[in-house]
Amino acid sequence: MQPSLEKLRKFFRLEHENKYQNTAIIGGLAKMLDYWEGEARAEGITEEVIQAVVSRLRSYEKLSPDGRAESLKGLWKRIAETYPEAGQKPKQVQAPRPQPQQPSTPLSEPKPENEGSSPPKPAEKTQPQQYQQKPRQNPPPRSEAVAGAKHSQTPAALNAKLTVLQGVGPKNAESLEKLGMQTLGDMLYYFPRRYEDYSQLKPIQSLMYNDVVTVLGTIQSVHNRPIRGGKQSIIEVVIGDGTGSIRLSYFNQPWLMNRFKQGDAISVSGKIDQYLGRLVMNSPDWEPVEVENLHTNRIVPIYSLTERITQNWLRKQMNQVVTYWAPAVVDALPDNIKRAAQLVSIGEALTQIHFPDSQARLKLARERLGFDEIFYLQMGVMRQKRDWRSVEGRRFPVSDEWLGARLGTLPFTLTSAQQTALADIRADFDSGKPMNRLVQGDVGSGKTVVAALGASIVVSGGAQAAIMAPTSILAEQHYRNFINLLAGDGGTMQQSEIRLLVGSTTESEKEAIRQGLQDGSIKIVIGTHAVIEPDVLFKDLQFVVIDEQHRFGVEQRAELRSKGTNPHLLVMTATPIPRSLALTVFGDLDISVIDVMPEGRQPITTHVLRPQERERAYTLVRAQIKNGSQAFIVYPLIDESEKIDARAAVDDFDTLSKEVFPDLKLGLLHGRMKPAEKDEVMVKFRDKEVDILVSTTVIEVGVDVPNSTVMLIEGADRFGLAQLHQLRGRVGRGSVQSTCLLIPTHEDATENERLQAMANTNDGFVLADLDLKLRGPGEFLGTRQAGYATTLKMANITDVKLIEKAREQAQALFERDPELSQPEHALLAEAFERFWSGGKGDVS
Ligand code: ADP
Ligand code: MG
Repeated sequence: MQPSLEKLRKFFRLEHENKYQNTAIIGGLAKMLDYWEGEARAEGITEEVIQAVVSRLRSYEKLSPDGRAESLKGLWKRIAETYPEAGQKPKQVQAPRPQPQQPSTPLSEPKPENEGSSPPKPAEKTQPQQYQQKPRQNPPPRSEAVAGAKHSQTPAALNAKLTVLQGVGPKNAESLEKLGMQTLGDMLYYFPRRYEDYSQLKPIQSLMYNDVVTVLGTIQSVHNRPIRGGKQSIIEVVIGDGTGSIRLSYFNQPWLMNRFKQGDAISVSGKIDQYLGRLVMNSPDWEPVEVENLHTNRIVPIYSLTERITQNWLRKQMNQVVTYWAPAVVDALPDNIKRAAQLVSIGEALTQIHFPDSQARLKLARERLGFDEIFYLQMGVMRQKRDWRSVEGRRFPVSDEWLGARLGTLPFTLTSAQQTALADIRADFDSGKPMNRLVQGDVGSGKTVVAALGASIVVSGGAQAAIMAPTSILAEQHYRNFINLLAGDGGTMQQSEIRLLVGSTTESEKEAIRQGLQDGSIKIVIGTHAVIEPDVLFKDLQFVVIDEQHRFGVEQRAELRSKGTNPHLLVMTATPIPRSLALTVFGDLDISVIDVMPEGRQPITTHVLRPQERERAYTLVRAQIKNGSQAFIVYPLIDESEKIDARAAVDDFDTLSKEVFPDLKLGLLHGRMKPAEKDEVMVKFRDKEVDILVSTTVIEVGVDVPNSTVMLIEGADRFGLAQLHQLRGRVGRGSVQSTCLLIPTHEDATENERLQAMANTNDGFVLADLDLKLRGPGEFLGTRQAGYATTLKMANITDVKLIEKAREQAQALFERDPELSQPEHALLAEAFERFWSGGKGDVS
């Protein structure tokens, strides 16, 4: 479990023991947010979880003890939804299974039964994994790469069980297994969480308030100070390093008294705080320092631990294994690739990643191990692309005249970017291979018309098209657009050939649509999940469009695809795909980018306001409405299970309509309304019967009302960047200057990095890049889509340079030997298969 979550758990338990008196932390639980938030973010905890923690702990103080108990319980449940390993109680380790007791044996004389015995069964599926640092869907590829390497020339000892190590008995082996290690090979690939660089220490004298540092010192004094009438205590430790001394405080951890010994050297890491004008550290992480580390100026690895295992113990075991076996791992990567990409050998990389001799060699080790991951990923992506292109796709050629006539009936001229995307699509249709294309364009860039023209090409060739959107509001909007574009004046289609199929469609209409799709009288169906229901069958489905593809899972896309025979597939997204992802996760798709906005659009001005400045925001809203525009006021969806989202919007809706804007017409839209009610409100807003739409994030995706020019977002700090950008894209669609106002929950959040980024740029790419960096691929894409990208341990998915390097090599190799059938690639082929056997490739 991530240390920040571990901390939460610790304090929640303490709080439980204290009967929810809000005393687990001095000054109340909310105090821990000061550092926790940053820590959690640094560990990549999802923004949703962070915000849930922040909001609960902030309001914690006000609750009754019962309410507090409920609140913490609910919060923990919420955390466990995202981090299942947090949900499990730290299980008491069961008694070791009855198995022949294996005496620990020194490594140098492995037991014969380990030598060349069959490889240990992969236990990923049967073993509880709650202690892993990260939830993982796929087995870690690289541990397999070693574990399974027994067929190659890698020493069989790497498959040996950990009990062959001196000092590792069945119990310790069990603990190590919880960390994902079953064999010596696994250990090599259990990388440090971070390093302590004792060559870069800061002397105590030069520490500054707010520094986050590692300090090394000798313990000068240890005191246990009772507080609150002796019910609780603070341990105060003073350490000194010759340049000065600093005090460390540990609250309510009396057992530490016995651990800190005067004269011992320890290293502590954490934030420098101040108390009564003096610098202090509150509950910093600490560990005893081995004198040897100091003397050799070592960069010392810090591993993630589990119960009953200490850092020093694990480090010692690691040192043994790495020293003996890292150099023995046979390198799967051919020499020519290593040379071309300037990579160190696998042996060197595995040695240096654990016990680096210098920062420079550590960097090279990271580079090599990261390269491997991206390289296999790229090879797989290329193979997948080739597989998809190995089947036939029906040809739909159209003449320039025909297309020109279609374009002539549009109410506008396509932008140059739309024209390019359309040309790509047209070429795909005439290629004889199934289209597999991602059209990516910022909100409002005009993707719909491109999809509609694509559909009309297929229909002109006598086949059918299906368009799937994530919400019924959006499906309906597309439906209207398609009707206008294709069945309006000069259009080639009848209205009845284009149909809308959503959840709320009446049963008789559904039946008629199913019938029409089956007999071919309906050419285009537009809908939500309803179109992938099993009873929806097509006569000849040849074109599948998926809008806002990040909202759908792989299975749903496969489902829709399977309704035709090798249909052409077009997926559309408004989330700009950073180049790094375009090359990796989306590398198997062809990509068209619509990076030009239709003419006449004015850039949206964005301001971050303090909560106290809300009146100013209202004034601006009112002024715009006076000018004939409309406005959105959006509230965050905090926690679906608690209906807070609905309440926030509903509560404020009352105030807004009765007190703030009594003279204006307000509409309310939230996720708890029935689809028909939602649609009614949206229609009213579209038809200008409503001036202000008060809503939760249900309007996030795709809604198009060009007359709205103000987007006011409440609780803006609770939204992710991509979401904010999506929301903002609801305005700025007409020719009038639009404004987006961001009001965070608390004043201090006005400096929030995301909000400032929003104010500084309208460029979806810049924001997406930042978003990816802040949240990581799993959150950015949704875990379903990020798939293997979330299992990368070493490679940074935003490292475009590394990605390009790996891609260049993968491409060259793929051209020479796509099947990896040449003998010199045998090892590589094995490693590659292992990497992908656990991964999910289909991201289309
Ligand atoms: P998105 O890419 O976000 O799905 P839409 O397809 O909904 O964008 O288009 C946004 C708006 O821009 C729609 O009102 C659409 O009619 C309009 N539009 C699309 N292309 C053009 C264009 N080339 N010129 C002017 N307006 C356009
Ligand atoms: Mg759209």
